[in-house]
Amino acid sequence: MTARLLDGKALAADLRAEAAADAAAFLAEAGRAPGLGVILAGDDPASRSYVTAKEKACAEAGIVSREILLPGDAARAQLLDAVAALNAEDAIDGILVQLPLPDPSMEDEVIAAMDPDKDVDGFHPVNAGRLVLGLPAFVPCTPAGIVEMLRRAGVELQGAEVVVVGRSRIVGRPLSILLSQKGADATVTVCHTRTRGLAEHTRRADILVAAAGRPGTITADMVKPGAVVIDVGVNRIPDATRPRGYRLAGDVDFGGAREVASAITPVPGGVGPLTIAMLLKNTVAAARRRRAARP
Ligand code: NAP
Repeated sequence: MTARLLDGKALAADLRAEAAADAAAFLAEAGRAPGLGVILAGDDPASRSYVTAKEKACAEAGIVSREILLPGDAARAQLLDAVAALNAEDAIDGILVQLPLPDPSMEDEVIAAMDPDKDVDGFHPVNAGRLVLGLPAFVPCTPAGIVEMLRRAGVELQGAEVVVVGRSRIVGRPLSILLSQKGADATVTVCHTRTRGLAEHTRRADILVAAAGRPGTITADMVKPGAVVIDVGVNRIPDATRPRGYRLAGDVDFGGAREVASAITPVPGGVGPLTIAMLLKNTVAAARRRRAARP
């Protein structure tokens, strides 16, 4: 069997078009476009390029973005002031702090300073708590995109055995909560570096999600025949034949797994494009919620 490819680029294009239509409707009702405030500290090229991509996507969707650029050695107070300024600005509906911060030890405090109603990345403890409780919440964009992909691809979640490899705050853990919630109703196992017999778990999975950040974590023999395989990993593999000197690979041995699975995401072009698309959706949703909450 050769697996069906789950095309993240095409889905992201649909999601972006939906966000653009929603943003246009909001503009017509509210007399202003939804707004996203972005805080970027330092000059890390990867962070810069992520922020540029997010701002470009916002512009295409009719979302106004405003960037606050801080030096790499920005003090705690400067970061907190920037968050406070965006919290207070009425035309800003969503706030994004580009991570990692140059000093990652400040991340928790900076995120906690955000107005949870503007936390479109879904990283604030209030939103994490609401997610755990099954209450409406902003959900981190990558796991939200994965659920959207599974649903739109017609993958049965109810009663499905899901194995998520990885338990990070931004991917594995929130995804495991989303999929085990009422309404999704999957049976979820979360694996990590201390898991014994990883392959015994993965071979049970109807839906196998690899979010380990290590190439080759999942080989073909670890995939149940007919499983749906979602590869979240983005790994740079040195490759002198490529202009950039590397190629991207996921956590899954794609060539082998696609002969066993029924559906699989490629890397690149699978989960990757969904993250920014869900950020746009969350930003428009934030604008709507804030307007609806007005007295
Ligand atoms: P992370 O914070 O490093 O977490 C990795 C998780 O995987 C940890 O829980 C770790 O376990 C577990 N793990 C690592 N190696 C393992 C192994 N051999 N067996 C079992 N578990 C293992 O990474 P992340 O931020 O979640 O990101 C994961 C990957 O997804 C990365 O490649 C990242 O670039 C990619 N990513 C892609 C997108 C996107 O496409 N839009 C978005 C976010 C992340 P421990 O907890 O025990 O250490």
